[in-house]
Amino acid sequence: MRIILMGPPGAGKGTQATGVAEHFGIPAISTGDIFRSNVSQGTDLGRKAKEYMDAGEYVPDQVTNLMVRNRIDEPDAEPGFLLDGYPRTLAQVEELDGMIKFTGHELDAVVVLTVDSEELIQRLLQRAETDGRSDDTEEVVRRRQEVYAEQTEPLIDVYRDRNLLIEVDGMGEVDEVSERIFAALDQVRES
Ligand code: ADP
Repeated sequence: MRIILMGPPGAGKGTQATGVAEHFGIPAISTGDIFRSNVSQGTDLGRKAKEYMDAGEYVPDQVTNLMVRNRIDEPDAEPGFLLDGYPRTLAQVEELDGMIKFTGHELDAVVVLTVDSEELIQRLLQRAETDGRSDDTEEVVRRRQEVYAEQTEPLIDVYRDRNLLIEVDGMGEVDEVSERIFAALDQVRES
């Protein structure tokens, strides 16, 4: 299975990604997590990414694309993968198409988690208190929502046109949302 998990910041992608990936026996690849671990290890990539992340902006495509390409080339991603937080721009969509085509496979599904905008802000402000992520301040949270609306929301139509889009209600308990995602993806796998 080659799956993309999409949704605005706060929709619960990170929370769901691990469980979904486990369910299908594939690695969850989170660009946000890879960036954050590079920042904390003080790598060159981390230094490049940090200023963008802290401002709520996207890291430049060139940097992100190369990072994802390298990750997808790892042996554990050969049977498939779940992408959390990539692609986020139209240029990344094209780049990913190339990467998947090169392996001779196809994308199976794009899951979009939908959550009310009120609830999104609540969740992110809550996370700001518990996790202390440097990009969870109110100003940056708002900027991330804007950037998502401008640059990432248009991807939903692209994948809908390709008949890959599955919209899943992201409101409610974590387990309920997981069950909805499993049910939708099990259907894709069986078809
Ligand atoms: P969120 O919870 O806001 O969806 P993530 O943890 O997925 O956040 O990502 C955090 C930050 O990492 C983003 O705000 C952005 O700066 C950077 N980032 C993650 N994925 C990408 C991507 N595909 N393209 C560019 N920047 C990215």
